[in-house]
Amino acid sequence: MFRNRLALEKLLTWIPTVCCVCGRSTYQRYALCEDCAGALPWIVDACVQCGDAKPGLALVNDRCGRCLLTPPPFDQSQGLFHYAPPVSRLLTNFKFHGKLADGLCLAGLLAERLQDCWRLGGKPELILAVPLHRARQRQRGFNQALEIARVIARTCQIPMARTEVIRRKATLPQTSMSSSRQRQKNLRGAFVINGTEGLDSVNSVAIVDDVVTTAATVSELAKTLRGHGIRRVQACYLARASA
Ligand SMILES: [Zn+2]
Ligand SMILES: [Zn+2]
Repeated sequence: MFRNRLALEKLLTWIPTVCCVCGRSTYQRYALCEDCAGALPWIVDACVQCGDAKPGLALVNDRCGRCLLTPPPFDQSQGLFHYAPPVSRLLTNFKFHGKLADGLCLAGLLAERLQDCWRLGGKPELILAVPLHRARQRQRGFNQALEIARVIARTCQIPMARTEVIRRKATLPQTSMSSSRQRQKNLRGAFVINGTEGLDSVNSVAIVDDVVTTAATVSELAKTLRGHGIRRVQACYLARASA
């Protein structure tokens, strides 16, 4: 089976795909030509803990002042892009217009980055996609975070949480909240551990999402996990938007 997959991957490098950004044929692995991949709004400097990537952010030992004073409930962040064109367009196509390929090409790049980082240490024991509320998932037809998490789990060979954590509260979209206090209140108690078996022997979890803005969702989920004894929580996401 494994040998067949390798053979298939080798074969696929001989078949051109269409670049999600410029539409030209490409032989690159993730439906992004080399020029377009190089021109994406990659995050260069960010706080290693909260992932804040505002231009000009002052960092001390790779951490921002806010994390040094009041650290968030997660230990580390891995975000790949600023939420800017063409990433913002690809993610809108992915999330709202069902163009899975537009999100999965970015997910492939994130998975490769994480694989490189985790080779050096800090590899989590479990991958957890930010759960959507049942009603939202039914309406959208899929959970975009879960699709990204699948790519990461497969590339990095880490098991994925299935139903261990659920979203019991149908929260309002975080983008409709104007203050961080409102965002926190909107999310309080949103997640609940649903059956502990899959989490009992787990010490470290990587939370996966598509876009992070204030990290309020990741923080609430991290608090829920910590409440269950998970010691180490990382946040992994495709894009970081400015609050
Ligand atoms: Zn291109
Ligand atoms: Zn920070």
